[in-house]
Amino acid sequence: MARALIIGCGAVATVAIKKCCTCSEVFSEICIASRHRENCEKLAQELRPNTKTVITTAAVDADKAENVSALIKEYKPDLVMNIALPYQDLAIMDACLECGVNYMDTANYEPENIDDPEWRKVYDKRCKEQGFSAYFDYSWQWAYKEKFEKAGLTALLGSGFDPGVSQAYCAYALKHQFDTIEEIDILDCNGGDHGYKFATNFNPEINLREVSAPGSYWDTDANGKGHWVEIPAMSIKRVYNFDQVGQKDMYLLHHEEIESLAQNIPGVKRIRFFMTFGQSYLDHMRCLEDVGMLSTQPIKFQGQDIVPIQFLKALLPDPASLGPRTVGKTNIGCIFKGKKDGKPKTYYLYNVCDHQECYKELGSQAIAYTTGVPAMCGAMMVLTGKWNKPGVHTVEEFDPDPFMEALTKYGLPWQENFNPVLVD
Ligand code: NDP
Repeated sequence: MARALIIGCGAVATVAIKKCCTCSEVFSEICIASRHRENCEKLAQELRPNTKTVITTAAVDADKAENVSALIKEYKPDLVMNIALPYQDLAIMDACLECGVNYMDTANYEPENIDDPEWRKVYDKRCKEQGFSAYFDYSWQWAYKEKFEKAGLTALLGSGFDPGVSQAYCAYALKHQFDTIEEIDILDCNGGDHGYKFATNFNPEINLREVSAPGSYWDTDANGKGHWVEIPAMSIKRVYNFDQVGQKDMYLLHHEEIESLAQNIPGVKRIRFFMTFGQSYLDHMRCLEDVGMLSTQPIKFQGQDIVPIQFLKALLPDPASLGPRTVGKTNIGCIFKGKKDGKPKTYYLYNVCDHQECYKELGSQAIAYTTGVPAMCGAMMVLTGKWNKPGVHTVEEFDPDPFMEALTKYGLPWQENFNPVLVD
């Protein structure tokens, strides 16, 4: 019996909220809050007749910690589930600390304005020291470790699919299948087709920023020292034949869980992340980038300030609306190379999810589904005390077993292959 304050009511949050309402014994009360309360209320009205979970709604602008603190003080939740945007992570963490509440999210912090000189100073230093230039990284949230530890509060970062389940798969492989893991390839394949020439499967601004950034991976030199290798965006391509999806082009991207896995999987030598993209998506993205439509810098247009990527977001289909038209499957998982009992071993752990089945069950496409279900399962781990570790932690730092059991129960069962085709 617990109370969760859920911030965000978009594509991913909608799935998490619907799943919370199927588990009222844990989520006995939830408050759904975002800037536009009417969206939260619309969802609440749809859900109230069929759930024992008591649902309230609120308006909150989570860009400011004081707004979130005021709502926490009024609602008194046991956990704040941040399923808004990565821009709000730090403000919501500040509010949780002020009010003594546990925290979780699905994506690590990045600023909305990457031209902010204060942020830029820290960013430029990190690029030089660490060797990767993605706008998002864990340093901002890891800086809260001591504060959460001292307060006896748990902050669970990145409880979506990737990051999230991908890291639980790593913890599971290490616990049950390997003595040491040397190489990890995270493969994220979306074989879905929504029929649009160009649309993003989750928030376009966050998605396009991620995909248009240089790629990078973790590697180890001859002296055993780990380091980042950065490459131009989309410059490493592989073709892989995914179970139940088929052959797809995939590209090496920078991804946040590489950063934490490099620290938390002892002895790991290489970690890469690949995502599949069709040619049409890449052509559109390159063109939009070339004409400046992916810029976050406001421009003056007919006397008004317009942020190009936000204007583009308004033109693109709402990711939440892709559900009815998306057909096909996703296949997301990790291929491991390492040793067990002194012998070399390979292992592939993955989930296959069908867009139309997700739509039939919850009215959402599989990208929102595969993120929203782990968000709810991660929250459940914290609320039931199964994952209770004061500080700021990523998913691989917790016991994967109860989480993977919950994933299976709530719609994301895993499959394994003991002789996978490896990625060269
Ligand atoms: P959407 O754009 O669909 O929804 C975002 C929600 O956040 C909206 O309900 C919006 O409501 C709310 N929001 C935005 N700004 C604020 C604010 N200042 N204060 C309060 N609420 C706010 O995004 P998605 O659902 O697609 O994505 C949600 C999160 O999931 C993102 O952080 C994304 O990066 C992450 N994600 C993680 C994945 C993973 O595997 N780990 C995969 C896919 C996504 P309103 O406008 O009313 O405020």
